Amino acid sequence: EFGVIADLIRLHAQEAPSRTALADAQRTLDYGALDALMDRVAASLQRDGLRAGDAIAICAASSTHYAALFLGALRAGIVVAPLAPGSTPASLARMIEDAQARILFLDAAAAEVIGAPAKDAIPRIALDASAAGQDFEAWLAPAGARPQAAEPQPAWPFNIIYSSGTTGEPKGIVQGHGMRWAHVQRGAKYGYGPDTVTLLSTPLYSNTTLVVFFPTLAYGGCVLLMPKFDAAGYLALAERHRVTHTMLVPVQYQRLMAHPAFDKHDLSSFRFKFSTSAPFGAALKADVLKRWPGGLVEFYGMTEGGGTCILEAHLHPHKLHTVGLPAEGSDIRLIDESGREVARGEAGEVVGHSAGMMVGYHRQPEKTREAEWFDPAGKRFIRTGDVGRFDEEGFLTLFDRKKDMIISGGFNIYPSDLEAVLRGHAAVAEAAVVGVPSEQWGETPVAFVVRRAGDPTSGEALLQWANAQLGKTQRLARLHLIDELPRSAIGKVLKRELRERDAR
Ligand code: ATP
Ligand code: MG
Repeated sequence: EFGVIADLIRLHAQEAPSRTALADAQRTLDYGALDALMDRVAASLQRDGLRAGDAIAICAASSTHYAALFLGALRAGIVVAPLAPGSTPASLARMIEDAQARILFLDAAAAEVIGAPAKDAIPRIALDASAAGQDFEAWLAPAGARPQAAEPQPAWPFNIIYSSGTTGEPKGIVQGHGMRWAHVQRGAKYGYGPDTVTLLSTPLYSNTTLVVFFPTLAYGGCVLLMPKFDAAGYLALAERHRVTHTMLVPVQYQRLMAHPAFDKHDLSSFRFKFSTSAPFGAALKADVLKRWPGGLVEFYGMTEGGGTCILEAHLHPHKLHTVGLPAEGSDIRLIDESGREVARGEAGEVVGHSAGMMVGYHRQPEKTREAEWFDPAGKRFIRTGDVGRFDEEGFLTLFDRKKDMIISGGFNIYPSDLEAVLRGHAAVAEAAVVGVPSEQWGETPVAFVVRRAGDPTSGEALLQWANAQLGKTQRLARLHLIDELPRSAIGKVLKRELRERDAR
């Protein structure tokens, strides 16, 4: 059945008004205060003429005010478009326009990127008491304000999330109330409850964060928001607040496990740690399982909602190289170039179906059609652009994104294979391989390597070493040493930037 997250928060507020719901370094909101603030937000948006189905944009660092604004808008049936402050000014302008946002909520840092408002720009409200817009507190309807009731239906849009833009311009993905509710129901397996303390250090504009944020609150737990991740700060917060749940992207796990004080912290309060959004190496997963108490659960999916695979790593220690099994209600298939399903055991592009699939990309019917695949019976799937293979037990192994695969002299080269070889060298901390145009081969692989701190091994030596291990068709044309791999705010390696860098 279907439930409304904002209504559940009201129930918690009635049952336990003084239990903590949200906290950041500045503020703590208990359920009573959160519920009252959500009412004031909903009433303020209605006062400004917004009705169910209208949209607002939020472009700011995570904070309790941000979270309460998001939740309050939902109570009025208003659609939230959370935007990444790290985007380019042009991209942000396009997203605000695309979402047809009626009000822009922002902070000083976002205002600096977005720039001064044009004459006909939508109103701006500053969440951080800066000069970025009208002050949030002043904008809020008086305490005790009550909004008109809205009764969200499963098909109503809940939020528009812009895809990470890892492979191109971000696409607006409309997720419905039903889809968010499905995440809450799935959460029943992971022990969320009133005693849950979830630490979130990924941004609120990403689905990665939201798949844990909403369930925590729906079950009456507490969310701690850390707007900017650093390993030492994270560990201190986790220990001090007896954190039970968290979501981290693989590069954050890597930083935490490499932190010299990791093993000195008492992390015995953890029950479940989640990960998603980028490849999570098997060795790193094994290290997390060994040194960090509690379960480790990896999700593989996309914001578009075309099905999910789940690896409960603590239950399947021999399957750490996979992203697990299709989740209940997810139908995952593999297709070839011609759009036919591949034979069992073969690799193909992952397509997925679930109850909570996006209707389509916002105002982009063309892109939507490109992303769809229908099985012979007419069932609708979303194409992921990722290549994978099922093993005999039905666990999915992922290779690379199709766009990142290298076709060299007619051979398919998986960058992930080459990256794994490079990581096998003691000097290598991180490695990424991209395909670049080559007159002779069509495309040829080029590597970028970050060495371990203080390691003097030369790029030339690494290149020779790697090429001695690699098959003839896989050999690297060049190897660049760099200080850091370019990553998106959510930790995905930006391979298109690496390709540009090689061309320079
Ligand atoms: P864009 O579509 O704009 O290029 P994006 O695909 O990175 O951006 P998201 O919807 O945030 O946007 O990410 C989904 C993608 O992230 C998947 O298609 C997959 O490539 C990758 N991904 C998600 N989970 C995992 C995982 N557990 N392991 C490896 N890769 C993952
Ligand atoms: Mg994508």
